[in-house]
Amino acid sequence: MTRLDKGAREALLADIDAEAALTSSMTGRQALSPRVRAAIAYVPRHAFVPQAWRDMAWHNRPLPIGHGQTISQPFIVAIMTEMLDLEDQRRVLEIGTGCGYQTAVLARLAAHVYTVERIPDLTEAARETLTGLGYGNIDFLTGDGHLGWPEHAPYDAIMVTAAAARLPPALVEQLKPGGRMIVPVSGGFGWFGQSLNLVTKDGQGAVINKKVLDVAFVPLVEDMP
Ligand code: SAH
Repeated sequence: MTRLDKGAREALLADIDAEAALTSSMTGRQALSPRVRAAIAYVPRHAFVPQAWRDMAWHNRPLPIGHGQTISQPFIVAIMTEMLDLEDQRRVLEIGTGCGYQTAVLARLAAHVYTVERIPDLTEAARETLTGLGYGNIDFLTGDGHLGWPEHAPYDAIMVTAAAARLPPALVEQLKPGGRMIVPVSGGFGWFGQSLNLVTKDGQGAVINKKVLDVAFVPLVEDMP
């Protein structure tokens, strides 16, 4: 890591900390945990961003990754990860691999990540980037994320990184009792009116859905390419 790199990472973390403090009344989290901060500082975001955008990779903003898709804003990646309360032995399902940046953050904090992406080229590019960076605890699937990945269910945690029209029943089904799911749900107006929801399942299987923040994600698309 060069000195410039280190400065950029610290500046990004300072931005994320400030935004976490501003939103704490909505998220219920006063600050990011040291584990999540360390993962954000560690994962080389520039490796997931197209060459033309590399200079911007350590800024707290979303960027285009091709195919009309985006790499999420680092604050959003951080706070969504935070709300899953990941621990070393946890198994996580991610819907919407995209460039694989969020996948890498999850893979630093959990035992295994199963990630599902609709666009085959993005699955392959993410697989290549993440394998190149040495991640060995990620499985990839090209498919419709509404269906989850039943073969490896149930999951301790589920993260959806595209906005669903409604809470996908298969994902609720594949969440373990005691598990946590974070999912943007659209209000029916595309990018507008979306809310980030924290879905928890208690030991008896009862599901609670709590709105956390207003967000703007690309849609979780209903049909396959
Ligand atoms: N997780 C990424 C952000 C991905 S953007 C990050 O780290 O920044 C959302 C992704 O969801 C896009 O790659 C899009 O192709 C994918 N997606 C949209 N609809 C989907 C569906 N039905 N199933 C699986 N992936 C889907």
